[in-house]
Amino acid sequence: MTHVPSPQGFDFETSGFVVSDSDIGVYCRPETGNHILIGSEDPECDEREWVDPDDYNREFSEQWTTQAYRMGQRIPSLGIPSRMKGCVDLYDVSDDWIPIYDKSSVAGYYMAIGTSGNQFKNAPVAGAMMASLIDYCEGGADHDKNPLQFPLSYIDGSIDVGFYSRLREINPESSFSVIG
Ligand SMILES: Cc1cc2nc3c(=O)[nH]c(=O)nc-3n(C[C@H](O)[C@H](O)[C@H](O)COP(=O)(O)OP(=O)(O)OC[C@H]3O[C@@H](n4cnc5c(N)ncnc54)[C@H](O)[C@@H]3O)c2cc1C
Repeated sequence: MTHVPSPQGFDFETSGFVVSDSDIGVYCRPETGNHILIGSEDPECDEREWVDPDDYNREFSEQWTTQAYRMGQRIPSLGIPSRMKGCVDLYDVSDDWIPIYDKSSVAGYYMAIGTSGNQFKNAPVAGAMMASLIDYCEGGADHDKNPLQFPLSYIDGSIDVGFYSRLREINPESSFSVIG
């Protein structure tokens, strides 16, 4: 993710907002220090890099500049500093890019993984759901046979937690979006 200063005379940190622009393949949001955070929508023209999670390059690459230039198409007065700031990290993905929220084959070990770069806003409810799943399984229920139905407190509905099973078939309907 690329961080660049807000253009002169505009307080993006206070007055900017989240924009996702598929024509240029990036999204942006306000970042502290009156910066603009520019992230990738993962367009097809950007090559995906599969890495060893214990050993990968955390240095900025050409991708940093590419994302800044893309945003420059929308904000012509954008300054692009030579000193790069931002964040380089990896996504943990599952085969169908849908998370696994489940128990594991190791007794007492549970997984909330494979969030594929898009579960930030879901993290709080995922935590509550995992707590409920742990109570359910540790209380003796067989989640694989009778999946937990997790009630949602603010709307009249529930989540079939079996949807996120480690044993599920790969979901061909899955449509990946980094924006979450
Ligand atoms: C580069 C990048 C960009 C992303 N962009 C987006 C985006 O634009 N939109 C979006 O919706 N999502 C995005 N995501 C995904 C989002 O950040 C994750 O889905 C979300 O943070 C998952 O929340 P979590 O609480 O489950 O896990 P995490 O945020 O990973 O939190 C797990 C915490 O547990 C701690 N921990 C781990 N092991 C231990 C241990 N043994 N003892 C104590 N603590 C431990 C870790 O230090 C960490 O603080 C992005 C992810 C990455 C990597």
